[in-house]
Amino acid sequence: MHTARAQQRIRAFGFTESQKGSTTVLEARLATKRTPDHKTVVALSEQATCGGKELLIIGGPCSVESLEQMEEVAAKLAPAPVQALRGGVHKPRTSPYSFQGLGKEGLEILETIKKGHGMPVVTEVMSCEQVESVAASADMLQIGSRNMQNFELLKEVGQTKKPVLLKRGMSATVKDLLMSAEYIMAGGNGQVVLCERGVRSFEESTRNMLDLASVPNIKGQSHLPVIVDPSHATGRPDLIPPMARAAVAAGADGVHVEVHCCPEEALSDGPQALLPDQFDVLMRDIKKLAEFFHKKLA
Ligand code: PEP
Ligand code: MN
Repeated sequence: MHTARAQQRIRAFGFTESQKGSTTVLEARLATKRTPDHKTVVALSEQATCGGKELLIIGGPCSVESLEQMEEVAAKLAPAPVQALRGGVHKPRTSPYSFQGLGKEGLEILETIKKGHGMPVVTEVMSCEQVESVAASADMLQIGSRNMQNFELLKEVGQTKKPVLLKRGMSATVKDLLMSAEYIMAGGNGQVVLCERGVRSFEESTRNMLDLASVPNIKGQSHLPVIVDPSHATGRPDLIPPMARAAVAAGADGVHVEVHCCPEEALSDGPQALLPDQFDVLMRDIKKLAEFFHKKLA
C-alpha cells in the first residue's frame, strides 16, 4: 500500500488512478520523463553528481575487508579520478558459508575513509533494519540486484533523503527496474540512479549478459540517470574496460567498477577486480571518450 503522503505526491504530478475490479491501481510514473529533455541530477556531494555534464565514476572493492585495505585503495583511486568509493559491508552471498561482510565495523571503516579522503562512499543495504545505520554512514545507498524487488526495502529507502543506487535485478525487465525506482520515489526520495549490471542468460563464458541497449532505452523514457557496472555484468577483467568504454558511448551517466589492490586475496569477487593500474588506463580512455560525447570527468 502507498502511504497517504505517497498517494498525494502521485496525484500532485497529475497521474491517473484507474479502477480495476475493486482494486485501485495507481498509474504512478514519477520515473517517467515529462518532457524530452527532462533530466534529474543526483548529488552525492558537491563534487560528485550523476546525470549532468560530469560522469559519475564509482570504484572500489567488492567488500570492505579492513581499514588498511580501504586506505590503500582509496589513496590509489582518489586521483584516478573516482568520485565515490564503494565497498560492501553487508554482502549478499550465494553461499551462507562465504564472507558475509564486516557489518557495523565496515561502516566505521567507510566513515574513517570518507573523513580522511573527502570522498563520498557507497555501500549496499540489504534489509529494512539496516537502512538507518547505513544511511547514517554512507552517502549513497545501494540496492543490489537480488533486492531490486524487495518492495518493503524500496519503501524504506524511499523514506530517507540519501541518493540510491538501484541495480537491475538479474531477471528484471527495464519496466520492472523503472517500477522499482517508482517505489522509492513514491516515498518522497527522488534521488535515484539506475544501474545496468547485466541479466542472467544462457551464455556461460561471462557472469551475466550486459544489456547495453537498456541505457538509451531507459534514457528515452526516464529522467533518472543511468550508470553501468561492467564488473558484475561480465565478471571478467579483460571485458570490463571495453564494456565501460561502450557504456559511455551508449550514453551512460557513469560507470561502477570493482577495483582491488590484491585481487588474489579479496574476500569476494576477486577474479573480476581490476588492479588500480588497469583502472588508471581505463580512466584515461574514459576521459577522452567523455570529451567526444560533450561530457567530462570531475
Ligand atoms: C556488488 O555490487 O558487489 C553486488 C553484489 O552487485 P549486484 O547486486 O549487481 O550483484
Ligand atoms: Mn561484487
